[in-house]
Amino acid sequence: MKVVNVMEELVLQTLEEQWGHIEMPCKCDICKRDVYALTLNSLPPRYASKELGLAFIKAEFFNKQSLTNILCEITRATTLVAKHPSPHNIPRGS
Ligand SMILES: [Zn+2]
Repeated sequence: MKVVNVMEELVLQTLEEQWGHIEMPCKCDICKRDVYALTLNSLPPRYASKELGLAFIKAEFFNKQSLTNILCEITRATTLVAKHPSPHNIPRGS
């Protein structure tokens, strides 16, 4: 049976929207993925059938409380990853 975690799509879209405004020492794909994973870990999954998924996502985007929660968790994850990035070549300076 095919189900999707609607939260994944919501977090991804929100993260893509916010990424340009986020302050981080390193903003490579590895760090971005870490933020994405950490954010998802702290939010409850929301499963829906593939067919219902899209409608669900749209409804959630109009729900201010959901968006506030997602933004709050993205900020928290960003702070964590900025302090404890996965080992990789972090560009120095700037
Ligand atoms: Zn990085």
